[in-house]
Amino acid sequence: MADSDGCLFCSIVAGDIPSERVYEDDRVYAFKDINPKAKVHVLIVPRTHYADVAALAKADPSLLAHIVTVAQSIADDSFHGAYRLIFNTGRDAGQTVFHVHAHVLTGETMDD
Ligand code: IMP
Repeated sequence: MADSDGCLFCSIVAGDIPSERVYEDDRVYAFKDINPKAKVHVLIVPRTHYADVAALAKADPSLLAHIVTVAQSIADDSFHGAYRLIFNTGRDAGQTVFHVHAHVLTGETMDD
């Protein structure tokens, strides 16, 4: 776990910053991305703060597997189970929020 002070997604999970909730349970919170890159673009975050997917995989692999299960469920509801699942990891890969989040892109056919 890394420092969660001032973390945007910790504030969203806590309800201190508004978001459009898609799904939640005791381990994860899922909400719509404010700058969608697909017809359906959902972010799934663990309630516990980990900086990136590598830190999460090391600390709690079952929670990472749970995120995949939730992504599948969102895609089952949105687009017959087809989706892209992206974890940008590291600033040079485009990660801008250092609280691990799965991008679920679905809801439309993606050709490229
Ligand atoms: P990253 O670039 O992989 O770190 O993804 C961060 C994502 O968070 C981007 O796709 C942003 O559009 C999204 N984002 C940033 N702030 C908010 C917010 O307040 N609500 C919902 N999504 C956000």
